[in-house]
Amino acid sequence: MKFGGSSVATGKKIRHVAKLIAENRSEECGVVVVVSALENVTNQLIQAAEEAKKGNRDYIRKFKQEMLERHLAAAKEAISDKRLEADTGQVLIDRLGELEQVLTGIVFVGELTPKSRDNVLSFGEKLSAPIVSGALNDMGVSSQHLTGGEAGIATDNNFGEAGLLMNVTKFQVKKNLEPLLKKRAVPVVTGFIAATQNGETTTLGRGGSDYTATILGAALEADEVWIWTDVDGLMTADPKIVSSAKTINEMSFQEATELTIFGAKAMHPRALEPARKEGIPVRIRNVFSPANQGTLITKEKKVKTEDGVKAVTLVRNVAMITVSGAGMVGAPGTAAKVFEVLGKENINILMISQSVSESNISLVIQRNLLERAVNTLEIALLGRDFIREVMSEDDVCVVAVLGAGMKGMPGVASRIFSAVAHEGINVRMIAQGSSELNVSFVVKEKKGDDTVRAIHKEFKLSTK
Ligand code: ASP
Ligand code: MG
Repeated sequence: MKFGGSSVATGKKIRHVAKLIAENRSEECGVVVVVSALENVTNQLIQAAEEAKKGNRDYIRKFKQEMLERHLAAAKEAISDKRLEADTGQVLIDRLGELEQVLTGIVFVGELTPKSRDNVLSFGEKLSAPIVSGALNDMGVSSQHLTGGEAGIATDNNFGEAGLLMNVTKFQVKKNLEPLLKKRAVPVVTGFIAATQNGETTTLGRGGSDYTATILGAALEADEVWIWTDVDGLMTADPKIVSSAKTINEMSFQEATELTIFGAKAMHPRALEPARKEGIPVRIRNVFSPANQGTLITKEKKVKTEDGVKAVTLVRNVAMITVSGAGMVGAPGTAAKVFEVLGKENINILMISQSVSESNISLVIQRNLLERAVNTLEIALLGRDFIREVMSEDDVCVVAVLGAGMKGMPGVASRIFSAVAHEGINVRMIAQGSSELNVSFVVKEKKGDDTVRAIHKEFKLSTK
């Protein structure tokens, strides 16, 4: 079971989480817990690391004090037994002392490397896990807290977005956690952080706690991985856009991966991988309404919607670039050149389409990278005789329509675009992957919400 930052934001919420854990374990079924940092703490740590780099010692002193007060208050609220509270408090004091040293080190060196940044970021989870574990012990559930490295999660040294070494991890996690489970204890493991084989702290990338949970689930061959969050599961659309949006009861891994990539609910992009490989079902559930069964993600592709469409999502903060020139027609290598240039600049392409006439290629990228992307493309491509123009639009968004049942079903695209046309909305660019799991297209940003609502209505997603 993984609990995100908003589920462990305060001592009161942590008590609630501990109760959920206690209620959901049984004689036959042990539980391993993964926790995120307390809400917003990782962001604050990033800020503190930046301030340290600038040499701001006052900030660091104040920051440490605030962190200490918040975490001690949470421990006090979550743990009623005085001795247990004091033990947990001591762990928090020690760890924050260590964090202060790391930050002071950065002040002195005046440099923030990816390695020292990961070290700073790891403290959010290193402070939350002891409190959750303490709350469990307080309820009479024997528990122990461990860092991701202590649990056995091994990675390479690509700090900031470390790559998992699954074979070593599997071996180590079994060795470290199975004895605890045999004793009926509940291991509480820090999400997001791991270690290299030399014991250096690494992180798995923002939102990495989900990934930690599926890694541990896969290593231990768990029956299920439960991601407890603050929504009812994956939804047919963002409820802020479509008030009648519904929770999707079941999805395949493929569908869920598409949905998470398109940002239905920010989830780590690799989070489903380990579970999918081992065929371990993943359940997304709401901590604040545990009676709801949430969304079950399984291997089987159970297609229930006869129309094939399961969800429609909106991706904001994107921009579209169009590279055009008659000389591109029949000139192999143009697309390769465009991708190579952007790849070298580390600019990720979210969507691509080329007309059959080959006279232009359109791309969608993150909006904050637009200027850099256009400059790079202009420098690399203009002046070559086959490219005439690099154009861009930054007031657009992507609408993605998803569902495995769309595959091989004629007429879905026509219904999508008729519904959009009916609203008088102009479609700027279209792409459908040959997987046929999604159709994505670009519209003006101010039309994004209306587009989502039109499609949700056309496929009657609130009644499925
Ligand atoms: N605390 C980390 C983050 O905010 C990891 C997580 O919450 O999953 O990115
Ligand atoms: Mg999170």
